[in-house]
Amino acid sequence: MSKKGIVYLIGAGPGDPKLITVKGLECMQNSDTIVYDRLAGDRLLTFARPGTELIYVGKSPDRHTLKQDEINKLLVEKASQGRTVARLKGGDPFVFGRGGEEAEALSEAGIIFEIVPGVTSAIAAPAYAGIPVTHRDFTSTMAIITGNEDPLKEDSSIQWDKLATGVGTLVFLMGMSNLPSITRRLIENGRPPQTPAALVRWGTRPEQQTLTGTLGDISEKAAWAGFSNPAVIIVGEVVSLREKLSWYEQKPLFGKRVLVTRSREQASALSEAIEDLGGEPLEFPTIGVAEPLDYKPLDQAIDELAAFKWVIFTSVNGVACFFNRLRRRNKDIRELAGARICAIGPKTREALERYGLLVAYVPGEYRAEEIVAGLQGKVNAGDRVLLPRADIARKVLAEALTGMGALVTDVAAYRTVMGGGDSAEIKKKLLNGEIHAVTFTSSSTVLNFAKMLDYPDLENLLKRVIVACIGPVTADTARELGLKVDVTAEEYTIEGLVKAMLEYFKQARRHHTAG
Ligand code: SAH
Repeated sequence: MSKKGIVYLIGAGPGDPKLITVKGLECMQNSDTIVYDRLAGDRLLTFARPGTELIYVGKSPDRHTLKQDEINKLLVEKASQGRTVARLKGGDPFVFGRGGEEAEALSEAGIIFEIVPGVTSAIAAPAYAGIPVTHRDFTSTMAIITGNEDPLKEDSSIQWDKLATGVGTLVFLMGMSNLPSITRRLIENGRPPQTPAALVRWGTRPEQQTLTGTLGDISEKAAWAGFSNPAVIIVGEVVSLREKLSWYEQKPLFGKRVLVTRSREQASALSEAIEDLGGEPLEFPTIGVAEPLDYKPLDQAIDELAAFKWVIFTSVNGVACFFNRLRRRNKDIRELAGARICAIGPKTREALERYGLLVAYVPGEYRAEEIVAGLQGKVNAGDRVLLPRADIARKVLAEALTGMGALVTDVAAYRTVMGGGDSAEIKKKLLNGEIHAVTFTSSSTVLNFAKMLDYPDLENLLKRVIVACIGPVTADTARELGLKVDVTAEEYTIEGLVKAMLEYFKQARRHHTAG
């Protein structure tokens, strides 16, 4: 029997990709086709399974918007072909999302469907601005209202007289162009003009902007600020709580989009740290990991493992690739019984400990020069030392160890290749000022970044972007390419890099507020 199609109408949440529900994400990742629009958010799509068919049905400047019945038809058609379809809609699918109409169309066509509710912007955008939509001291009622309808229309379907004084918190969606008449109608119908009001634009996203005022003046303020959609309008006493409860906009990296240039496999720790601090990580892998062109040197070293006194790992990739190969040669960690193990830093140590190994030495500073200093007296003349590393690793370490009288075997455990990031997209974002900081975690990330971007005037392109480097060697490489370096970590780890960036932005903020 052929596979039966199904459509999941999924609330994608208000913009922060992590505000999709666990069920929504699961359905999305099990789908063959994803049908989405503007508010569902591009970042969420990076969590889709590779190879998933992505269909954009939102507005775009170069194409006319797909009409609702065309979207309905598309969903029916895809599901009829036996596909599992995720229909991603901003916020909640049934809150002004026309999800009801899509479900009706599916029902009429006999297509199986499920609704996965989502976090609506009507509640989440105020929440991210520090405004609880209900509060025991202020109100126990709220209404979500469309602002789409011209309130001055004679046969308005909204009972303004009841709404104006009958409900505590009023949240309008799609109301920016009607804001002057919405506020006017509410005041005419008895809501005091001094009632607190707020606008939250692009809520839960780095672009979030909040404007506060009163029912009487918010519309004029919005006009001055050039405030536009997508925004929610909040009217009610609860708005006053923002002064105490604003939290998202206070985060140190709030509003900053930070480029992460590490390999896809390694990016997550940095991305998560950026997110925790309120920033938006944008991953652009400049490095990929591939098998070495020739396994012979590594294989030979693996066959002679018993002879080594030390094995020094200088990256997490090195650890993973070494042990993969060991396994492929039908061997395991017992081969290392006679060797002591050194890791260049805490992450590499963690990776080794996951294999059940005890690490004998981690230098205080995570550089080749520091390892050598620390191994003085631990490595004796004539000791065999193995360095399973990247094909392009710096030679300093091997040379210094040889200088100490060690017999060094320096082999490639993996090869670094150019990453698969979308450079056209990144160039566009840089030109538009949509990227605020770029992080480099090794010299190769800098060099590959420059190669991949292949832009005639990189220096200028990055002039207003904060360049943050994990250490002095990386920073030097960046400077050699003509870049100005704003942040160099004092501790050459991801934590160190994040800390240094944090300090930088704190200073910048202080400066900003002071002057
Ligand atoms: N189903 C959606 C609403 C769709 S109507 C939901 O539940 O959120 C589109 C309107 O939603 C926009 O005009 C705007 O008023 C609001 N909206 C959606 N995302 C928003 C966001 N991140 N910040 C502020 N308003 C948003």
